[in-house]
Amino acid sequence: MDLFKNIIKAAERGRNLLLDREIRIGITGLSRGGKTALITSLVNTVSHFGEANLNVLLPRFQTYEESDMSYGGIAQPRDLSVAAFPYRQAMDALFSDPPKWPEPTDGVSEIRLELRYRDNRWLRRGEQRRLFIDIWDYPGEWLLDLTLLNLSYEEFSSRIRDQIVKVREVACPDDWISAGEKLDPKGAVDDGYLARVVSLYTGWLRTCKNRGLAFVLPGRFVLPGHLEGAPVLQFLPWIWEHPGTCESDSLYAVMENRYEAYREQVVRKFYRECFSKIDRQIVIIDCIQALKGGRETFMDINDTFQILLQNFNYGNSTWWNRLFSPKIDRVVFAASKCDRITYDEHQHMLSLLKSMVSQAVGVVRAEGAHCEYLVLSAIRATDCMTVKLKSGEEQQVLKTDNPGEAPFFPGSVPDVWTRENMDFFQKYFDPAGMLSRLRPLRFKPDQPVPQLNLDVLLEYLLGDKL
Ligand code: GDP
Repeated sequence: MDLFKNIIKAAERGRNLLLDREIRIGITGLSRGGKTALITSLVNTVSHFGEANLNVLLPRFQTYEESDMSYGGIAQPRDLSVAAFPYRQAMDALFSDPPKWPEPTDGVSEIRLELRYRDNRWLRRGEQRRLFIDIWDYPGEWLLDLTLLNLSYEEFSSRIRDQIVKVREVACPDDWISAGEKLDPKGAVDDGYLARVVSLYTGWLRTCKNRGLAFVLPGRFVLPGHLEGAPVLQFLPWIWEHPGTCESDSLYAVMENRYEAYREQVVRKFYRECFSKIDRQIVIIDCIQALKGGRETFMDINDTFQILLQNFNYGNSTWWNRLFSPKIDRVVFAASKCDRITYDEHQHMLSLLKSMVSQAVGVVRAEGAHCEYLVLSAIRATDCMTVKLKSGEEQQVLKTDNPGEAPFFPGSVPDVWTRENMDFFQKYFDPAGMLSRLRPLRFKPDQPVPQLNLDVLLEYLLGDKL
């Protein structure tokens, strides 16, 4: 029966893909990068499709008007075992008083939207069609685990050894290392003591994450989802001298087995179920956060994205290979939260973004996929305006909608990364910490969420499908 259902489902997906009526968008990025805000904003904007004057708010989404697009509602998800993206809760947060940021999700979630449009393609001109957009959200920490697919337990341990040296100044690993030194790799497993060391190791990973470092492995240790407390998360990298041959019930062998189980049952399963089917990908990067974290963080993000992107299947997607081996054919690198800087700084942020992901982009392009860069704000917290200074010069500043709050200039963003630029940024950017207190702008329920550059993103993601 299940087999029959699966065949019907596969056939239905095939038919949708053949007619190009389904597009799966994956949203990738590290925690707190802005994924939840972006999905909320995308869904909300799409839900206003078809309303009068929306084209004025989305001037660069040309295909919108040409194809007479309208919103058909939130559709039944394709995968009923995956949590639904909590869109309603996110909107409730935005409409609370004062407005709040949507709660970030901490697992995989999906939302499927239905669009109606007029087909403008040759032979099908004028026909009414439906397009389903599947948006997939998943924590960047889990994504990073994909790097483990190619690493044996020994190689994983050696990666962590290297990482300790790189980040020691930012996140001190001494407590878990000294506790771990007391473990006997050839002895029997003492589950209680092992759990204590694993918990110290997890604490170190959390510190790395909180300091803005991207390379946090294994990712489920910090965001376990439903695996909280499961034995498959009870292992450590063996960063000490290799113990040589060990009995199968020794601590070392058990940890090696758990690592293998983690790789196969957690990571590979996730990869199969989630990623291999994505058509388009948005990679979100919070450049300001990366600059704030300092040199280690910046380099770490760069390296991490390169490793990450190697795990995706990129390439030019024709209808034929989409059906049999779906591939990501477009990737957008988006610097999020650009409403935290003035308009005249956007170009700098864009250059910075390009410099940050330059290596990663090389990987994607070499595989034949198309890349685009963008700065965007999914949910604006500020307006940008120009004021005249006493000297007579004009300056752009940011303004919130909190009554009585004076406009402010947070500072400049460097367009390339250098040691001096980074030091300058850390000293002089947003010294009063205004940006961390920002709240979403208020807006009326019959209007879309205030955003920046979402129209460019929509044109890039959907323009060629309509
Ligand atoms: P996620 O963990 O990647 O899902 O990150 P979120 O979308 O929850 O964003 C994390 C935080 O970044 C939010 O709580 C906001 O404080 C901030 N943020 C996200 N998007 C924007 C934006 O467009 N503008 C501003 N100013 N802040 C944003």
